[in-house]
Amino acid sequence: MNIILMGLPGAGKGTQAALIVEKLHIPHISTGDMFRAAVKEETPLGVEAKSYMDQGALVPDRVTIGIVRDRLGKDDCESGFLLDGFPRTVPQAEALDELLSDLGKEIDYVIYIEVSQQELISRLTGRRICSNCGTTFHLQFAPPKVAGVCDRCGGSLYQREDDQEETVAKRLQINQEQTEHLIRYYTAKEKLVRVDGEQPIEQVTETIFSKIRSRTR
Ligand code: ADP
Ligand code: AMP
Repeated sequence: MNIILMGLPGAGKGTQAALIVEKLHIPHISTGDMFRAAVKEETPLGVEAKSYMDQGALVPDRVTIGIVRDRLGKDDCESGFLLDGFPRTVPQAEALDELLSDLGKEIDYVIYIEVSQQELISRLTGRRICSNCGTTFHLQFAPPKVAGVCDRCGGSLYQREDDQEETVAKRLQINQEQTEHLIRYYTAKEKLVRVDGEQPIEQVTETIFSKIRSRTR
């Protein structure tokens, strides 16, 4: 199954992606994670991406499409994949369609996780991530058992630099407009599945699976 998880920053894409790929046994491809890994390793890609990420801006399409093209060509994508945070612009969506058609594949579902602006701000500013295994927590909504420590691996939790309040507002504004264009793009292709993202985490997962099942039948 080839899936796109769409939603504004903080909608719960990464959280749901981890739960979905565990059930479907497909790779989780997050462009944000790929950029953060490149920033950490200080590769040329990382240096370029960092200048945009720090400002809450989008990394240019040329760069982003290039890394996705390389990633989707890998063997582990043969039996499906889940894209998280890509595409974020219509040119990225068009490039993805072209790339998939070259590979003889297509997107099955575009799951759009809907969350209100106010909720997104609290989710982003309260988000904490494990520096070792990448598991996502939230100070109020998904707190770790011991403050600052990952439940899964004992690693220490940190706050993403772009989750500081100043950058959050800018990211939401930039992503909002692009997301509206993408919703129209995938609605026209009859791929869009809307999911209420303001339910508890497990219920969002259940809704995603029940909507996929009802479409498959
Ligand atoms: P995204 O990948 O879309 O930016 P995340 O999955 O990182 O979003 O979630 C953003 C924050 O909101 C995290 O701190 C996460 O723990 C929390 N979160 C995710 N889903 C929910 C939910 N359904 N209810 C409450 N908090 C949530
Ligand atoms: P995310 O982890 O999805 O919130 O992404 C973090 C940051 O990485 C974004 O604010 C952008 O700067 C960059 N990024 C991730 N995915 C994309 C994309 N598809 N297009 C452009 N920039 C992206």
